[in-house]
Formats: sequence, C-alpha cells, structure tokens
Amino acid sequence: MTAEAVNFDCLECGRCCYQREETILVTAADLLRWHRQRRFDILEGIGPGHFGQEAFLSRPDGACIHHGLPGSEHACQIYADRAEVCRTFEAGSQQCLEFRRRAPAL
Ligand code: SF4
Ligand code: SF4
Repeated sequence: MTAEAVNFDCLECGRCCYQREETILVTAADLLRWHRQRRFDILEGIGPGHFGQEAFLSRPDGACIHHGLPGSEHACQIYADRAEVCRTFEAGSQQCLEFRRRAPAL
C-alpha cells in the first residue's frame, strides 16, 4: 500500500464500482457460494461477462447494480457477501490509482 492510499476513503470514492458493462466479473466460486447461501437476490443480478465469464449487471450510469445505499452513495449493498474481485481490489493498488486518475470525481 502506498502512503497516498492511507488517505483514501472508498466510501468517498467508489470509482472502481463504475466500470464498462460486463466487466465486473464474478468467479465460479462466487456463484457456488451465493447458491449455497441462497442469495438469489445476488444471482438475479448476474449476466454475461467478458471472456465467457459472468458479471454483475450495470446501471445505466455505469455503476454496479449493488452500488450505493441511502445516505452513503458509494457503499456496497452486498458488502458482506460481495464478489472475490471486490474483496481483493486494494485501495492504493496500481489499479485503484488508475481508476482514480482516469475517472472524474463522482
Ligand atoms: S478506486 Fe480505490 S479508493 Fe476508490 S473505491 Fe476503489 S479501491 Fe477505494
Ligand atoms: S458488488 Fe459492491 S463492491 Fe463489488 S462492484 Fe458491486 S457495488 Fe462495488
């Protein structure tokens, strides 16, 4: 983690939850876990993704359909059960910095 990352507050940012359609990919392990948990609410929000995988559906504004809660616009609605890719995405990583560099503040 970089020194800069110490000051990042994901709840004030949210940029990595806005991606091109069909690119927030979920894994087979995610799908199995949600089936086991009977999280059909999450499974209903999955569609075809790039590379023959599956992905979270997007809203018209480009956000993941699980993005945002009343009073916390960048909170994740399924935080405790979010996808592997969301869990491993690290604030301050090169990818994070790239998202922050490319996207305007939300
Ligand atoms: S782009 Fe980085 S700082 Fe922003 S929400 Fe994602 S991980 Fe957090
Ligand atoms: S599941 Fe949550 S953390 Fe993952 S992309 Fe969607 S809103 Fe962001």
